[in-house]
Amino acid sequence: MNNLEQTLSIVKPDAVERNLQNEIKKNFIENGFIIKKEKKIQISKSEAEEFYKVHQSKPFYGDLCNYLSSGPIVVMILEKENAVLENRKLMGATDPLKAEEGTLRKKYGISIDKNSVHGSDSYENAKIEIDFFFKH
Ligand code: UDP
Ligand code: MG
Repeated sequence: MNNLEQTLSIVKPDAVERNLQNEIKKNFIENGFIIKKEKKIQISKSEAEEFYKVHQSKPFYGDLCNYLSSGPIVVMILEKENAVLENRKLMGATDPLKAEEGTLRKKYGISIDKNSVHGSDSYENAKIEIDFFFKH
């Protein structure tokens, strides 16, 4: 069955700081994703709070929003069959220590908070997140 989807990927500040965005993009392309759009930006704390509002009750919310707004990020729309799930598989577990061999977070992540990449977790959230960064 044909299920071409789009998902949102973010190369987070820890990875952009190490200039890993091209290396990470290579992983996406080698795994059959098409990068439909991309831009390098820095967001404000209040934009990060809006983006991560599902986590507002979590103890790590403040630190997470400070972190995502702390430096440049690269946001991308990725397209592939079952892109949402395929990107989550390529990223690996949230905690790099628990991520499987070969996954982006295993290869590039530093810690659970500095885990190098974000990826939408559902088809619905992918639409919301793509609009957040790319709808004008
Ligand atoms: N996070 C954190 N501490 C935690 C759990 C999550 O700093 O105990 C951060 C982590 O960077 C993660 C983000 O919050 O990527 C969003 O958490 P989520 O559970 O949605 O993980 P993800 O979907 O990114 O794997
Ligand atoms: Mg998530």
